[in-house]
Amino acid sequence: MSPAPANPSIPATASPARAPLKPLDVALAELLACATPLPGVERVSTFEADGRVLAQDLVSGLDVPAHDNSSMDGYAVRCADWSGAQTVLQVHQRIPAGSSGQELAPASAARIFTGAPIPSGADAVVMQEDCDTVAAGDQPYPGIRIQAPPKPGQWIRRRGEDVASGAVVLQRGERLSPASLGLAASIGFSQLPVAPRPRVALLSTGDELVMPGDVAPADMKPGAIYNSNRFFLKALLQRLGCQVTDLGIVPDRLDATMAALQGASQQHDLILTSGGVSVGEEDHIKPAVQALGELNLWQIAIKPGKPFAYGQVGAAHFIGLPGNPVSSFVTFLLLVRPFLLRLQGVTDVAPESMAATAHFDWPRADKRREFLRVQRDAAGGLALFCNQSSGVLTSAVWADGLVDNPPGQTIAHGDTVQFIPFSALLS
Ligand code: AMP
Ligand code: MG
Repeated sequence: MSPAPANPSIPATASPARAPLKPLDVALAELLACATPLPGVERVSTFEADGRVLAQDLVSGLDVPAHDNSSMDGYAVRCADWSGAQTVLQVHQRIPAGSSGQELAPASAARIFTGAPIPSGADAVVMQEDCDTVAAGDQPYPGIRIQAPPKPGQWIRRRGEDVASGAVVLQRGERLSPASLGLAASIGFSQLPVAPRPRVALLSTGDELVMPGDVAPADMKPGAIYNSNRFFLKALLQRLGCQVTDLGIVPDRLDATMAALQGASQQHDLILTSGGVSVGEEDHIKPAVQALGELNLWQIAIKPGKPFAYGQVGAAHFIGLPGNPVSSFVTFLLLVRPFLLRLQGVTDVAPESMAATAHFDWPRADKRREFLRVQRDAAGGLALFCNQSSGVLTSAVWADGLVDNPPGQTIAHGDTVQFIPFSALLS
């Protein structure tokens, strides 16, 4: 049977022209261009500053260490006093950490402990394990003999070798880690100037969503699913230092969506939604944001992911994530994370990635850039999760990172791929 001829009296159906897919890098650059750092500086206790972003350079007012000091328990000596293994140096003083000694008398040694200042005149420390003590009659301390010639400077930590006075120790825009808190404390800071925490309103959309705890698994109606995105999105936001207002589930109605967005636009820097950003008639995010503010709906050339919305409602930024859990998770990591870091003034928002060896085959290329859920294996390569569907959240739990696979690229066992560990994305 031949196909029916097209009826010229019926216009072609109004299927909307497909917008070209936007490369991830282009979307990220456009998004970051809108992420003006939040104004203001907060002062917080150094104890409370882990994960916060420094709002001003931290300049040291002192050298660290403040004095040349011993890195061993042993004896401070003058190398020129040693003239062979039989040389006996009489110990004249004892310098524990926290006290300071006197100038070293000729041909003498000072008993010294880790962290104690080197007495003037001494130019080396000999570990106690490398010394023999020699009884010295009525002297308060014994003498010592040293087997091998001490070398000038040995076991001495130099003044300022960690931090020089006047140096910028931590820079504005740096995210504080446990080690940076220690470093700030080492130059005397009990409080730190940090960027304000972004205030984020979180909304889930979808009439199929049910909260765990509200309905037992056995009582779930057909078509109902538990709201999983709300849990990981809230946790991800909190890890990025945000103050989260969780506004729960918005029903799939335009008026309810508009009311929720309008309310959320007050007192928040960002409104983050999941679901409802496709263009089906049950997807109300698009018309609601358009009615209240501005919206750009992007089809991003990534998998999982694709639909993504950015706009403004009042003074608040708006970001709409896809509903499929893995798409929502991955898009958050690739786009929302850098956006939120930039709001806090972080300059370098790109996650670190590294070359790794694929221990799997990926024979079908996709025209989109793919982010495959993988796990490092015992052989030092990467194993692939068996199901890469955007609805399979198990993949994101099993994985310890993503392979960033360029568009149109197949992968064969043994190929070098680009790996982004979750450790670079989840904090
Ligand atoms: P949508 O983007 O609203 O069309 O949703 C796409 C898919 O993601 C659908 O199968 C939804 O049921 C699912 N989904 C949307 N929101 C959530 C959520 N918060 N938790 C779990 N699945 C969701
Ligand atoms: Mg939906």
